[in-house]
Amino acid sequence: MILTDLIDEFLKALSAADTKALSCKRDILLQALPPKERDPLRLYLSDLGKCPRSVAYRLLQTEKDPQSPQSEANDRWMFHLADEVESVVAAALLFHGLLTDYQHPVKIPRENWGGRSDVKTSRETIEVKSVRSNSFNHESPLPPGVVLEHGRDPYINGFGDEVKPKCVMKESYALQGGSYDLFDPMPENVMLYVADRGGANTPQQYRAGAEIQPLIGIQMELMDDVRASLPDIPDKLVRVLNIRDYGKTIKEEPDPRCSYCKYKYACGPDLSKRIWAAKEDGLWGVKKAADKSRLAAFASQAGHDKLMEVLG
Ligand code: SF4
Repeated sequence: MILTDLIDEFLKALSAADTKALSCKRDILLQALPPKERDPLRLYLSDLGKCPRSVAYRLLQTEKDPQSPQSEANDRWMFHLADEVESVVAAALLFHGLLTDYQHPVKIPRENWGGRSDVKTSRETIEVKSVRSNSFNHESPLPPGVVLEHGRDPYINGFGDEVKPKCVMKESYALQGGSYDLFDPMPENVMLYVADRGGANTPQQYRAGAEIQPLIGIQMELMDDVRASLPDIPDKLVRVLNIRDYGKTIKEEPDPRCSYCKYKYACGPDLSKRIWAAKEDGLWGVKKAADKSRLAAFASQAGHDKLMEVLG
């Protein structure tokens, strides 16, 4: 099943004011969601892959960073668009006679855990993620057992070079989607559907196999430990290395999860960026601030032989 095609057929019918499409959209929008669980110590399958320190802050009901009215309004808009994407997926499946469940509560055999899968057909669970357009500029390594099933085909750009669209699947998406499959198995592996909220990129459709399940177990243990150790708070996330400036610098930066964290004021992360290595005239030079052993581990993992040569 190519979900993008089914959605497109539905959207064409909707824009032509097709009565069946309109009624599917209305039925999904009218479907009242049950009230959200209020227990502050409850953990959710959507917590898997999050920063353990930020989860501890939520469980302790730590005050979130102050926000301007404009950024609060921006957040509301973003959450509305995310809900809208999910409801269009559900309405499209309803239109095609494939929808069996929407916001399905998942039974989890662990104390005080909750979760709801987004959309179900008779054969599979579908986890829907909507992301910003610029997320499609960054390649994410595929999590274990996750395969790209459908996305934009490679194309030839204006310079005659073949361009392979980047995979935007994140480990946290696969952990969440895979966990629905673990506790509520279906005949087919869970589908992970990543759509561009801005509509500039072709949505990507992935499958997560059983290989992700050991990681789910590790993450659930981690979050259980966070809850059991309160009011102790886990350490801040380790800063990461990234190649920037079109492959010309390697920078030490905060973990990407820090950039959109709502607890920066309570946490006080180091948000600076430092250049550890830079390329000039095709040769890498290592900066004084660099931790050479971490840089070497990064270069080896990313297969940067030229940098490895410089580091000896
Ligand atoms: S700022 Fe970073 S380290 Fe601190 S709680 Fe947020 S995500 Fe975690």
